[in-house]
Amino acid sequence: MSFEHLWSSLLEVGRAPSGGYRRYAWTAEDRLLREWFAGEAAERGLDLVTDRCGNQWAWWGSGQPGVVVGSHLDSVPDGGAYDGPLGVVSAFAALDALRDRGFRPSMPVGIACFGDEEGARFGVACAGSRMLTGVLDGRALRDADGITMAEAMGHLEPARDDEALARVGTFVELHVEQGRGLAELDRPVAVGSSIVGHGRWRLDLPGRANHAGTTRIEDRDDPMLRLAAVITTARSAATAHGCVATVGKVAVEPNGVNAIPSLVRAWLDARGPHAREVADAVAAAGGVEAVCESWSAATAFHPPLVQRLAGLLDDAPVLGTGAGHDAGILAAAGIPAAMLFVRNPTGVSHAPDEHAERADCLAGVDALAAVVADLAR
Ligand SMILES: [Zn+2]
Repeated sequence: MSFEHLWSSLLEVGRAPSGGYRRYAWTAEDRLLREWFAGEAAERGLDLVTDRCGNQWAWWGSGQPGVVVGSHLDSVPDGGAYDGPLGVVSAFAALDALRDRGFRPSMPVGIACFGDEEGARFGVACAGSRMLTGVLDGRALRDADGITMAEAMGHLEPARDDEALARVGTFVELHVEQGRGLAELDRPVAVGSSIVGHGRWRLDLPGRANHAGTTRIEDRDDPMLRLAAVITTARSAATAHGCVATVGKVAVEPNGVNAIPSLVRAWLDARGPHAREVADAVAAAGGVEAVCESWSAATAFHPPLVQRLAGLLDDAPVLGTGAGHDAGILAAAGIPAAMLFVRNPTGVSHAPDEHAERADCLAGVDALAAVVADLAR
């Protein structure tokens, strides 16, 4: 089936008024995406496996570890169309292209769709691959309404799944680039080499609720002031440490225009070689502890695999990234893994303007097909 047809069949699922997407784990939108994946697997006669953590696998062949390609279908709040779905759609399109030309793999070929990659609902990015590899116990995770991941998932048990993991011999994740590296190099596809260390921290900034009109300034205990210090320190500490840091989510209680808040909860995302130092500085500025909700150490993809893919793809550029991916979690678990990046002309990601030109998407499909043909020959 053509890339175009596959791509357009996903476009309306979870589309928000902003033009971006709200596709959160284990919601009605997520169910539609899972049904879509299962349908595409069935249409191709692939064996659909859903592991204990809710990751979906579509297998062509069985019996030994295989070559797996794929990505995720969930999104951040009002995320773009490409982050995740490009990798899954390209995987199906590449498999179709290989079959059309009569390719017979010498080992199983799998397409993976990892659950809850963005962590938009339960707060931990790459939750599906972290649970799969045993570095996260999903049973304790709760969403903003107090619903546990286990409850949201229904019959599945979010815990390590050795059987599913043992089938992954090599993993290659195609992803839209989340930066302008390829645009500056004037190339459509790159091979990913590494992911910087990154983490998420939560800061609970306490205050004392009171009336906005009758409480004298000197009598106030206003956590919004601590939030201001947290945000400005995130910027200054990141700059000082050669990192990036973002306070992109806050929750204010009671969140009234005419009330001094009783509590402000802020989430810090910090990435780079000294991300932990940034979190420490931000915590000190807020006068509270920074609770680490997730941490991913710097990850290098399998160097021989990276070299092999770059050579195979006409000496494709080799780029690192500041974004976390399931490929990084699998690499950290010892599975040979790498990534392919597809050019993003503006570099914008996690926003509705995220984009890749159609010709570049097709170049990505061709590259992925070449990679599978080489690794599974
Ligand atoms: Zn992604």
